[in-house]
Amino acid sequence: MSSKKEAKALKEELFTKKKNACLVLSDKDIKAADDFCEDYKKFLDDAKTEREAVKTAVLLAKKNGFKEFKFSKKLKPGDKVYTVNRDKAVLLAVIGTDDISEGVRISAAHIDSPRVDLKQNPIYEDGELALFKTHYYGGIKKYQWTTVPLSLHGVVFLKSGKKVEIVVGESEDDPIFCITDLLPHLAQSQMKRTPPELIKGEELNILIGSRPFKDDKESEKVKLNIMKLLNDKYGIEEDDFVSAELEAVPAYKAKDLGFDRSMVGAYGQDDRVCAYTALKAILDIENPKKTAVTVLTDKEETGSDGNTGLNSAYLSYFLSDLAENLGGVPRHVISASECLSADVNAAVDPTFPDVTEAKNASKINYGVVVTKFTGSRGKAGTSDASAEYVFRVRDLLDKNGVVWQTGELGKVDLGGGGTVAQYIANLNIDVIDVGVPILSMHAPFEVASKVDTYMAYRAFKVFFED
Ligand code: MN
Ligand code: MN
Repeated sequence: MSSKKEAKALKEELFTKKKNACLVLSDKDIKAADDFCEDYKKFLDDAKTEREAVKTAVLLAKKNGFKEFKFSKKLKPGDKVYTVNRDKAVLLAVIGTDDISEGVRISAAHIDSPRVDLKQNPIYEDGELALFKTHYYGGIKKYQWTTVPLSLHGVVFLKSGKKVEIVVGESEDDPIFCITDLLPHLAQSQMKRTPPELIKGEELNILIGSRPFKDDKESEKVKLNIMKLLNDKYGIEEDDFVSAELEAVPAYKAKDLGFDRSMVGAYGQDDRVCAYTALKAILDIENPKKTAVTVLTDKEETGSDGNTGLNSAYLSYFLSDLAENLGGVPRHVISASECLSADVNAAVDPTFPDVTEAKNASKINYGVVVTKFTGSRGKAGTSDASAEYVFRVRDLLDKNGVVWQTGELGKVDLGGGGTVAQYIANLNIDVIDVGVPILSMHAPFEVASKVDTYMAYRAFKVFFED
């Protein structure tokens, strides 16, 4: 005979115990999360591009006693080293006390975010306005990038060989830029376009000036005036844009979001929320048992190809270097290693609940998300973590009081996506996606919860310390 009371007790015992982290955590923990996110917001403002993220990471690493890795210099437990790949990716390691043959612990996040890149021959004048032609980077809804204040970041190699670094639009007194859009009054035919074409790729033109150079005879006087300004300030000639990488990103700063200040709203939180937390985790550990590695990679948003993306050999080369330096066999060390692929997942958006399946989607404030697989259709284009490894991570997080939840990238067959996990798995490393749930992913302004962010940091840290 069962009673109502028995059913209640059974339910409590058998059903999921997952709760909103804000109800589980102590006030002290929530305060710690809020405090943690003050520095996180600063990181977001300092590191709006992959190059800036590398610079910022190296600066913080040096402050925390990391030295540049030299293969010829013998490493010992407790040593902290970093190495930079082409200014766009960075690897950090803290040498553990255990034999390197037992493998290393890796946290891998990406520091590139969707944005609008300048074309190789960008500058032109039309209708007595000066503009830049662009080519978008990563998966964006192009219409979202119009009428957003933009700043310009990057490098130009002048014909002399001089490298010029450019950041315009971030200081209070800097000018900013924007991509214009049609007024609703005249958008009748634009609004009949199918949504992906609402703004076309070739319409993502950035407005950069309007005053003509004062000369009656020459044409393209507005372009000439801008070229003169650029030449006076940076020494740039038009052909120098070919050897440049200039990226337009939202010009605004990271801010607290909500009356309760429980969230952070900012550009580029996919995946700098995991980049910062994985970075901070390795900066904060001392004398781990297993050697800890954080890799902050480029090119994830375009599929991880290219020599600064994780589909290249640079991670395995670094792990091999560490192995050889510490007297291990590289392939044995790599095969014995474990990884948390630190990337964001899509949080349930109450305005668009149809794309997620409630029992398996991640939610804001439910802690760090453990995603067994990503990919699309029949689990194509992913590494599907084994039950053994999921247990390993689940157990680790539970034992250390890290609030976590499971997640998936939308309903089955509705879309999908990938992370760097598959490329790490291809090295014969156990890997699973662990990251922060995000609202408005890939938009110029993304939202993350402070407690989830803090739980991601705690997850990476306990993984290193285990
Ligand atoms: Mn990502
Ligand atoms: Mn992404």
